[in-house]
Order: sequence, then structure tokens, then C-alpha cells
Amino acid sequence: MILYSTKNTQLKASLEEAVFRSLPADNGLYMPEHIPSISPAFLANIEQRSFNEIAFEVSKTLLSDDIPEADILRIVERAFDFDAPVVPIEDKTYCLELFHGPSMAFKDFGARFMASLMSYFLVRSQQEIRILVATSGDTGGAVAQGFHNVPGINVTILYPSGKVSDIQEKQLTTLGGNVTALEVDGTFDDCQALVKQAFLDDELNKKYNLASANSINISRLIPQSFYYFRAYAQVKQLGLPVVFSVPSGNFGNLSAGLLAYRMGLPVAHFIATTNRNNVVPNYLSNGNYAPVPSVETISNAMDVGNPSNFVRMTRFFGDEWAKVKQDISGFWFNDDQTKAAMREVYDRTGYLMCPHTAVAYLGLKEYTNLTQKEVAGVFLSTAHYAKFLNVVEEALGTGDVEIPTRLSDLLSKEKVATPMTKQFADFKAYLLG
Ligand SMILES: *Cc1c(COP(=O)(O)O)cnc(C)c1O
Repeated sequence: MILYSTKNTQLKASLEEAVFRSLPADNGLYMPEHIPSISPAFLANIEQRSFNEIAFEVSKTLLSDDIPEADILRIVERAFDFDAPVVPIEDKTYCLELFHGPSMAFKDFGARFMASLMSYFLVRSQQEIRILVATSGDTGGAVAQGFHNVPGINVTILYPSGKVSDIQEKQLTTLGGNVTALEVDGTFDDCQALVKQAFLDDELNKKYNLASANSINISRLIPQSFYYFRAYAQVKQLGLPVVFSVPSGNFGNLSAGLLAYRMGLPVAHFIATTNRNNVVPNYLSNGNYAPVPSVETISNAMDVGNPSNFVRMTRFFGDEWAKVKQDISGFWFNDDQTKAAMREVYDRTGYLMCPHTAVAYLGLKEYTNLTQKEVAGVFLSTAHYAKFLNVVEEALGTGDVEIPTRLSDLLSKEKVATPMTKQFADFKAYLLG
């Protein structure tokens, strides 16, 4: 796979280079120069395939110029021991549950595959790297779990003290081994500033092979396409056009769906659903992309004012608004609508959704109401509801929500974190020491 920068089609990189650099030198985004098609024979029988069989086939189609097939199989097997099941909620309305991985959010798919792929390249080149990540919550958990015990990689996670949920903190601080958590006396922006400065520091770069686990890394995008194929496999027998509603923040998830689509997955339509951070729905309705500062909502993993994957999303359509609009509709919903949907669906069906999932559900309903089309509607559930317990309890008006044992076990584990100031000199001394 050859990749090019969205800012300069002449600036190219190999897969390995793109995985370790994350971003091209001109600060564009890496895009595959050529998108190969999935085998029609494979698609014809996809309903008989497991998640890992699908992941292997898609990876092979994309990566076999770079990695021998036997190694691709090992990379996939090491990354995934969890599925992406489709659950019927209402008539022709399905929830694609993406929270069966170790951190119970969809970012596990990207983080696990990235860790597995990086480790493969590192073992081959006999190198070691040190990953630095600043997190406001969910990304850190997925990265920590994804890289835990992966050979050749050390992970340092910085999180703002007192500003992540209990569950999120435990997911960062109870692993040990090659994962170290630094509890920073400051905000998420302070954490991010420390990481940025470390990447620019000569002394640190001389001592360590530093890398980031950035969400726009191409190795996080690729595995997110697998579950669109897997979802299609599970609704294919209905014989209806398939529509996906994607709860979006930085639009990595939706871009991965577009990658699957460009590989030949028969998707009838995509729905870009957001909370009040609605720059993309606005762009879809008037062709004008106008980023703004983000506002806080209850679906806070989607509080993004200038989505980092926007450029990728439009590039799949040659940056032509008219074409983007043909395949993607945009809708947005406020917190009251989101809470009402959580309550209404729970009362009627017994199914509990996290706030991000509820936004996606609303987008799907809006689309089918407006178009009156008969489709198999799939909305993506990006996190388990128990990760957002306060919001769920408020929406349902009860303090009596069940937590899965995996999460309650986690809460009883002991936190191990190193306190850190927001001064770069302290952080640097820690890393060198
Ligand atoms: C990150 C995240 C999102 C947003 O995904 P993008 O790929 O950034 O659009 C949605 N829901 C949850 C729970 C998340 O953690």
C-alpha cells in the first residue's frame, strides 16, 4: 500500500513509514493511493465468515504488497479476540455493538490492530519504541489495553487528574507491565502540550524512538473498516439496501466505512450523526465547512469542532460536495433529544444505549422517517452504556443501572499512577530517569 498526503499527492510513504510517522511532514493526512476491491466471491459468501476471517480477507486485500499473508494472519489473530455483533432492536433497525473489546468502546478495534501491526514491524527491524499519549478518557483506555504486553513497545499515558471518569481512570492505571500512567496536575490540554513538547525535544529523541498513537494513524482506520463488512454479513439475508448511521466526532469511524464502501461493500447510504457539534451536518446541507470551537455535551467523545478526519472523508469523493451529499446525509441532536431516546428505547424494548449510540439511533430514525425507504438500518454503538453511568442514570431517572462484571471487577482493582506536574522539565526528567 502506497500512501499519499492529502496536502500534496506527490508526497508518498510506505505503509511502515505511515504507521510510525502518523502524519506526513506537511501535516496532511495519509490516504491510500489505490483502493483495491474485495473479492466478489468472498462477498458472495460473507455471511458464513467470522469476524477474524473477514478481518484477514480485508487486510490481505489491502496489505499483501507489504506483508506476507502468513504474517497478516498472525497480526489479525493477535489483535482480535472479540466480535462485532449486530443486534435487532426494532423492525429493520439493528445495533452494531462495537463495545466487546477490552476497553468496551469501538476504539479497541483501531488500537489493537495498530499495536499488533507496529509490533510486527518492530520485531522485524529489531527496534523498540516508546509511545506517548495524552488522553481525556476513551482513547487512553483503548491504547493502554491495546498495547499492553506487546513486545517492543513501552507506553506512557498522561491523563488530567480528577477529569476522567472512575472507570476510565481504572482502565489506564491498573494494567502495569509496559504501560505507565502519569496523573497530571492540570487539564487535558496541559497533557497534550507535554507530549507535543517531548516530540520536539532533541535529548529525548536521541535517547528514545518516540511514537504517537494518534487517532488519524492509517493503522487505526484500516481495522475500523472490518466491522462494516461484518455488519453487512449479518443483515445480508434480509435482501434490503443497507444503511449505516455513525455517531461522529473526528469522523474516523465514518471514514473507515467509506474505505469499506470504496473496496466494494454494498452500502446504500451513510448517515453522519452528531451532537450539537454540527459542523459536518451543516457542511452536508450547505456545502460550507466552517469549523468552530467545540461545545460540551453528554456524548462527550463526539465534542469536536474541527474534525481531524474531515479531509479524509471528502477525499473519498474527490472533494466534491455534490458527490459527498449523494452518499452521506447529516443530522444532529441535542442532549434532551438524546436522553429522551435513551429512555424511550429502554422503556419500549429494554435495550440500553450509551449517549453516543443514542445519537446514532436518532440519526437513523430521522433518515428513515424523511425518506420512507425500506432499508436494513444499522446504527453503530460506539461504547457500552456502563462507561457513561451518570448520564444513563440521569436519562432513565434511576440509580439502579446494572454494571457488567468486567467493569465492576475493574473498579475494585488498585490504581497505580505516578503524579506529575504540568512543567515540561519534570516530565522530561521523569522520562530520562
Ligand atoms: C471516539 C468516539 C466517537 C467518535 O468517533 P470518531 O471516529 O472520532 O468520529 C464516538 N463515540 C465514542 C464512544 C467514542 O469514544
